[in-house]
Amino acid sequence: MRYISTRGAAPALAFDDVLLAGLARDGGLYVPETWPRFSADDIRALRGLTYAELAVRVMAPFVGPAVAERDFAALVEDAYAGFNHAAVAPMVQLDANDWLMELFHGPTLAFKDYALQLVGRLFDHVLAAKAERITIVGATSGDTGSAAIEACRDREAIDIFILHPKGRVSEVQRRQMTSVLSPNVFNIAVEGSFDDCQDLVKAMFGDERFRDQVNLSAVNSINWARIMAQIVYYAFAATALGAPDRALSFAVPTGNFGNVFAGYAARAMGFPIERLVVGSNRNDILDRFFKTGAMETRAVVPTLSPSMDIQISSNFERLLFDLFDRDGAALGAQIAEFRQTGRFDVTDNQLGHARAGFDSHRLDDDETVAEIARIHDETGHTVDPHTAIGIASGRAHRGDPSVPMVALATAHPAKFADAVEQATGERPTLPNQLADLYDRPERCIDLPNDLATIQNYVLTHARRAREVA
Ligand SMILES: *Cc1c(COP(=O)(O)O)cnc(C)c1O
Repeated sequence: MRYISTRGAAPALAFDDVLLAGLARDGGLYVPETWPRFSADDIRALRGLTYAELAVRVMAPFVGPAVAERDFAALVEDAYAGFNHAAVAPMVQLDANDWLMELFHGPTLAFKDYALQLVGRLFDHVLAAKAERITIVGATSGDTGSAAIEACRDREAIDIFILHPKGRVSEVQRRQMTSVLSPNVFNIAVEGSFDDCQDLVKAMFGDERFRDQVNLSAVNSINWARIMAQIVYYAFAATALGAPDRALSFAVPTGNFGNVFAGYAARAMGFPIERLVVGSNRNDILDRFFKTGAMETRAVVPTLSPSMDIQISSNFERLLFDLFDRDGAALGAQIAEFRQTGRFDVTDNQLGHARAGFDSHRLDDDETVAEIARIHDETGHTVDPHTAIGIASGRAHRGDPSVPMVALATAHPAKFADAVEQATGERPTLPNQLADLYDRPERCIDLPNDLATIQNYVLTHARRAREVA
């Protein structure tokens, strides 16, 4: 399998190079040259497999031959062995045909562990083979950072720097990052928003000299390997609920569009996915896009679902690439216009294609709290604010009641205990693995929203930069 850039001007790469590159050199995102197809019989053959077994089958066409099959299977097995539920991604039934897939059984209690636990191991494996060291720089609105740190801590070939918007992540999220004291982990609290952090990271990738000095890499959701690993739970849910003979729909609380794009990929591969419902909070650029065809940024407002407090969804470019019939030059021109003016419009035809595959919905904070309370009262389940937005969005676009609707539970309720307590009157408790989180010491540096200052900090601390200096 080879990968091409959404801007059309970077060389096509194999899986191992795409893994290490993150963003393409032309500023685009890598996507597979073609989607591997699973026939009805291929899908039937997935029934009854464990999560890890199914994961190997679903991802194999994307990886091979960059990682030997047997090595890959061992990495996958190891990645999910530490999860705190034997099913890895269990489903609970909320109503006659409404399901919740719990994606919070990894070490940091958010769905991002499902990809990053594997991606960290893949990095190690590929870097060991190349005898290289890299520097990972990432921006987080909360959950990516801790999941990335947990995936990379203490790894010999990796130093990791995570930028988060100071004061705009929950205390649990912050402590999950800053309480990791491993010498290869650097937390930076930036005086700015998540989009500022993301812009800083993009600017570092745009600086070729810096990029080469530190051997820069990314684990945020622009990295193709994360999307790939997320396709697995869509396939797992589909197979469990009767695919290929029965279709299903998903409702996905969405920020950077990485999670729901994996659902789009699963559908492109042949899994019978009817609707993909995008749930947003008040930062609703995606909801407005699907309603009007206009992509228009507004200021980010803080909400009770901070992992979705995003106005520019990086992975949306992967969908746009298809809406532009994979014309990277045309897409690049639109993105440049968007960067300059904060707006662009797709054609009616393109909007029609987008709507054929996606529905969207948005909730403000009051509606989110009401939804957490409703779910608690009616089903006895406690869900976090992101998950509640997914469930409500799925209900808003329920469609054919005979088609199962699976909402993705993207975080454990205890990660957002204040909002959950406000809604239900009960404070959810952290699982045992994190019970002493509030007693752990923290390490973090505050830096201004200034590219040169942050690059300098990275250059001073990254082992790779010190080695080549
Ligand atoms: C990251 C995150 C999201 C958004 O996922 P994207 O892939 O960025 O769309 C939603 N919910 C939670 C809890 C998250 O951590």
